[in-house]
Amino acid sequence: MSNWKEKLQVNDLSNDAKLEMQCRKCNHIRYLSKTELLKRDAGQRYLNYIEDHSQCTVFGCKGKMRLSLTYGHKVSAFIGGIA
Ligand SMILES: [Zn+2]
Repeated sequence: MSNWKEKLQVNDLSNDAKLEMQCRKCNHIRYLSKTELLKRDAGQRYLNYIEDHSQCTVFGCKGKMRLSLTYGHKVSAFIGGIA
């Protein structure tokens, strides 16, 4: 289960899936939808790339974010299949 982020592309997410990004420094949480990521041409990106390149948006924080999925049924089934 540890490296599922390296195996899952944004394109693989179900359309209603949301990524929860939590700052490791200040615990600020923001959500990214698949639609938003596609707008940024991130469809081919693996989720670990998204996580590695994310930065907290709180002014002056710029902490690293921890990515997790808020599961849609399709997504959790998919992850179960590759784990
Ligand atoms: Zn932060």
